[in-house]
Amino acid sequence: TSELPNSCIAPHRMYLQQILEACADGAVRLARFLYCDSSGLIRGKATAMPGLEARLTDGIGLTRAMMAMNQLDHLQPVVGAGPVGEVRLVPDLSTFSVLPYVPGTASFLCDLLTPDREPWAACPRGFLKRMRARVADAGFHLQAAFEAEFILARKVSDGSYEPFDSTCCFSTIAMDQAAPFVDDLVRSLELQFLQVEQYYPEAAHGQHEISIHHAEALRAADNHLKLRDTIRGVAWKHGLYATLAPKPFPDDVGNGAHLHFSLWDAAGKNVFSDPDKTYCLSDAGRHFLAGVLAHLPGLLALTCPSVNSYRRLLPGWWSSAYAAYGPDNREAALRIASPFWSDPAGSVNLELKPCDSSCNPYLALGGLMAAGLDGLERKLEPGEAVEVDPNLLSSSERSAHGIRRLPQNLDESLNALERDELLTDAMGPLLTEAYLAVRRSEATLFRNRETRFELDSHFYRY
Ligand code: GLU
Ligand code: MG
Repeated sequence: TSELPNSCIAPHRMYLQQILEACADGAVRLARFLYCDSSGLIRGKATAMPGLEARLTDGIGLTRAMMAMNQLDHLQPVVGAGPVGEVRLVPDLSTFSVLPYVPGTASFLCDLLTPDREPWAACPRGFLKRMRARVADAGFHLQAAFEAEFILARKVSDGSYEPFDSTCCFSTIAMDQAAPFVDDLVRSLELQFLQVEQYYPEAAHGQHEISIHHAEALRAADNHLKLRDTIRGVAWKHGLYATLAPKPFPDDVGNGAHLHFSLWDAAGKNVFSDPDKTYCLSDAGRHFLAGVLAHLPGLLALTCPSVNSYRRLLPGWWSSAYAAYGPDNREAALRIASPFWSDPAGSVNLELKPCDSSCNPYLALGGLMAAGLDGLERKLEPGEAVEVDPNLLSSSERSAHGIRRLPQNLDESLNALERDELLTDAMGPLLTEAYLAVRRSEATLFRNRETRFELDSHFYRY
C-alpha cells in the first residue's frame, strides 16, 4: 500500500542486497537475531550495521546453555547444553522485517547451527524443519495459524497489574477504548507483511484477540513469534502492558493461542476436505485428528507447557479440559471448524484449543505434526465426535464415550511426554532432555510458592 515505506520489501523477494538497502532506508542501526527457547521465551542478540553482512553468513555465537535456561534464568544441568561450547544464531533471510514499533531496529528469526554448520540437535526450529520434511515425504504440507489472545493492562502502585478495561465480550466500547493501540498494532503487523484476519475484544476484562492468515507451518511459527513481540511492543509504546500468559487473572477467562491446521497436497488441494464425509472431514483428516487426540497428553507438554497453563485448562472456560473432538465444539480439545460458504473445500480445518502462547511454537507445531502423521500412517480412528458440551455429561457418560480429562498440571503432561516415545523420538535425545529439564525445573520452582509469584513471573514473560 502507499503507506509502506521503501524499507519494506515482501519477504519472498528479499535478497541480501535488498536487506542491506532496506536497513539503510529504514535507518536501521541494529538487527536482532532471534530464537525461541525451551521456556517459550523469545530471546536474541543484535548486530550493528557494519557487521551485518558478514553475520548473515557467520551468524552470532550463542552459548549452548541457553536451551537449558528456564524462564527465571536458572540454568539446568544438561550434558551438551552447558557453559562449554557454542552454537550460532544463523538468520533465515526470508524472516527479515524492519520493526515498526521500536526505533532503528530490524529482526530475523534464526536457526541454531553447530560450528560445523549442521542443525544443532536442540534447535526447536530445526525440529520443526525435520517434521516438515517428514510431512513432505508423505506428499503434504501443513498450513497453520495461531490465534493470539492477550490482556491489555496497566501497572498499579503496588506493582501488580490491572486490566485496561472492564467491558464486555465483542463490545464496541472496548473497541473504542483500545482503538489507538489496535490501529497501531494492525499497522505494525501489516508493515511486517503479516496478513491480519480478524480483531475483537474477548471475554476477559482487557482481553483482545487478533488473528493472522494461515501459512505453511514454519512460517506460521515464525509469524506467531513476530505477533507476540509486536503485541507487547506496540502496547509498551502506548504505555500499556500486554500479556499473552495463559491465565493472568485466575478469576477471569484465560488467554489461548488456538492452533488451526490443515494438510495440503502438492496439487494445492486441502486433503482435510471431503464434502461427502461427516462434517466434511476426509478420511485423512479424521486419521490425522485421531493421531493428535491419541498423543494429546504428551503433546500438551509442548502446547500448554507452563505452570500457568493449567490454571486455564478448566471445564467451563472455553479452553477445553477433555480429550474430545466435535464440530464447532468450543469445549472440546479439537474442534472441526465449519467451512466458509465462499470456499468450502479450502476452509475445512481443525482447531486445537489446548494451546497457549507460553509454548515454543516450533515445538508445538512439530509435535502436532509428528502426532498427526502417526494417526495418518496407522489409520487411527478418533471414536465418536462429541456434539454436546462434555462438561454436561456425567463422568460415567464421559468414560462410555472414551472422553478423558486432559493432564491437570505440568508434571502430569511432562510425564506423559516422557512416556510418549513417538514424540520423544521425533524430538531426539538432546532436545527432549533439555526441554524436560527446563520445564520440570519450572514445575518445581512454582510448586511451593504463592500464587502471586507464579502470576507475576508469567505475566510479562509471555
Ligand atoms: N479464551 C478462551 C481460551 O482460553 C477461548 C475463548 C474462545 O475464543 O473461544 O481458550
Ligand atoms: Mg478467542
